[in-house]
Amino acid sequence: MSSACLIKVRGVVQGVGFRPFVYRIARELHLCGWVLNGEDGVEIHLEGPEPALEEFQRLLKSGAPPASRITAVEVQGVEVLGFQEFVIKASERNERPTVRISPDLPVCDDCLRELKDPVNRRFEYPYINCTNCGPRYTVILALPYDRPNTTMKAWPFDEYCDREYHDPANRRFHAQPVACPKCGPHYSLRVGAETISGDPQVIRSAVELLKSGQIVAVKGLGGYHLACDARNTNAVSAMRERKFRKEKPFAVMVNDVAAARALVDLSETSEALLISVARPIVLAPAKVELARVAPDNRELGIMLPYTPLQHMLFDAGAPDILVMTSANRSSEPIAYDDQDAIERLSGIADAFLIGERPIARRVEDSVARAGTFGPVILRRSRGYAPGAVTALPVTRPILAVGADLKNTVTLVVQGQAFVSQFVGDLEHYEAFRAFEETIRDLMAMYEVTWQDVLVVHDAHPEYRSTVHALTLPSSEKQAVQHHRAHVASALAERGEWDKQVLGVSFDGTGYGDDGDIWGGEFFTGSLRAGFERVAYLRPAALPGGDAAAQYPVQAAAGFLAQVEGLPTLARPPFSFPARYQTALQLVHKNVRTFATTSAGRLFDAAAALLGFTREITFEGQAAMWLENLARGASVTEAYPFPYRDGELDFRPLLQAVAADRVRRRNPEEIARAFQFGVAHGVAEAAKTLAAAAKLDTVVFSGGVFQNEMLLEDLKAKLEHTGLHLWTNQAVPPNDGGISLGQAALAAFQRSS
Ligand code: ZN
Ligand code: FE
Repeated sequence: MSSACLIKVRGVVQGVGFRPFVYRIARELHLCGWVLNGEDGVEIHLEGPEPALEEFQRLLKSGAPPASRITAVEVQGVEVLGFQEFVIKASERNERPTVRISPDLPVCDDCLRELKDPVNRRFEYPYINCTNCGPRYTVILALPYDRPNTTMKAWPFDEYCDREYHDPANRRFHAQPVACPKCGPHYSLRVGAETISGDPQVIRSAVELLKSGQIVAVKGLGGYHLACDARNTNAVSAMRERKFRKEKPFAVMVNDVAAARALVDLSETSEALLISVARPIVLAPAKVELARVAPDNRELGIMLPYTPLQHMLFDAGAPDILVMTSANRSSEPIAYDDQDAIERLSGIADAFLIGERPIARRVEDSVARAGTFGPVILRRSRGYAPGAVTALPVTRPILAVGADLKNTVTLVVQGQAFVSQFVGDLEHYEAFRAFEETIRDLMAMYEVTWQDVLVVHDAHPEYRSTVHALTLPSSEKQAVQHHRAHVASALAERGEWDKQVLGVSFDGTGYGDDGDIWGGEFFTGSLRAGFERVAYLRPAALPGGDAAAQYPVQAAAGFLAQVEGLPTLARPPFSFPARYQTALQLVHKNVRTFATTSAGRLFDAAAALLGFTREITFEGQAAMWLENLARGASVTEAYPFPYRDGELDFRPLLQAVAADRVRRRNPEEIARAFQFGVAHGVAEAAKTLAAAAKLDTVVFSGGVFQNEMLLEDLKAKLEHTGLHLWTNQAVPPNDGGISLGQAALAAFQRSS
């Protein structure tokens, strides 16, 4: 007795080996019917005995390909049509563009086995891939996702690959980037004017260069990496000097989990992140000191190989810890075009390992961490982008252009919020160009037209992203305030439209409603109703405005100008440069001085008192330095940071730091008591404000909440109060999450 059913599977189910998987289990269970890529997912028509249909549904959920993500399965009884076999049907035409594009995938175990098998056709072939693995977003030129619409279009299949591609029982059935050494692209090695070719040989030569301390530019999935031996201090130093990257930590790559464990304290959550299909860089406490790799930092960013080529480098005997950093100068975007890479990196890299397959768009490595409240993504890029982060209840397309630092762009199409890869800091010309490209790319990819789209930007009139947004040919534009966007991002990713919360938005800088520089804000409200500012950090002065972010002593001048009973800072233990006095004069004369409630600048001021008086070389450096310092102490004391009448008063906090410094107290203990003080003050304010507004949930967002010690302390202070504590998980708490928050707030302000 036969029954029939129609099953619709939604989620990331196209381009990830889903149809061959369905084909295989249907055949195993002797079921008949078909599978196809439908308008919004995979559709399956099944006929056979009832128990087999049930078994099929069980296997569908338990055995789905590793890179797929099922969000919904819909089953519906239908008429038996009497199919005699099970087939994969051709994709329906008019595929709607919101069918999710899969992010790039790491090479799978089956392909790795073949890569190392001397009798396999793809033995030591660096472009090996299958439906379960390999490039996706970085090779797609247009939708639908078919070979002619990828950067592999220049390499026609040979007979062998063609057969595999068309065989439904094969792992490479409809695997668009499939290739073999006979018909596919190859790698070459360029050293000076000389170029050598032959895949395994050039990889061995590159390994020899790495072993001898040279810097090699290696083409990866979404751009070039600069690689060198992480244990070779000379090589690492050379990389820093040539890259103009003085102190910002470098990420490293190790061959496997065992090697990762030897290098860092790998918690269960960290390990899960490390081996996840996104293969991000994972920040974890370092166990080994690698000189100059991550200076002044107790954490190390590590990742595992994700391309066949990276595996081949280790297999060929590359140094066991490789620095693997984005190939660029300073904080420019990653180089991804071969000619551009050779030109831009000629003074940095000693050699280039160049692959022939073009990269469709630059996508940098993602960064994640096992945080106090679970895994947190600090840079959402390769392996995650351009997956939909969340669904918003809107029909109209929305383009949100994000903020100027750590820029990302969000496009909402048919309610799906697609967050772009990391774009970078828009003050750099190259990054700004990448920003324009990303907008064009997303709009084209999802076939959104300028007439339809609502453009959303930050409220800062001078942000480059704002100025650009205002030039876009859309008839409707909307500004969203920066710190509200932070809180909104954390609610949007949870799909909480109506939940009333207390939002705590702490970061370095953002344009406030009153034109002041905000960054220590408390809001009440919901995504749907909007957010009202109910409290903030006591306003301080900021000489030099946003530019003061570069110099912690400048922030110190602005904050300390209000603190009474301060010891003289002109003699040890303090060592303030002349810039401090100059800044102080600006404050006193009220010249080029702006009001600020920035919590990030408060951390800068404390760091300056503790000895960080030089210019920072990357965003958030002084606060990271302070947190790191505090990790060395075991005190449990909190400096006073009182909350009263809508204002958190920083004066007693900085007074205590300065006084204990004069007493020559251990700086680690001072840093710890400062951190505790901040947490204590924020917790007290949160409790008071939540109680007053009868709220049971507090949302923490903004770059300051990348400070894990602050989150740990807040959790300890608040978890027994009955308050729910929410943080970002899918998008970064830093400005990388702003575009999603903008889109979410604009969606509701429109629909209401
Ligand atoms: Zn594979
Ligand atoms: Fe921000």
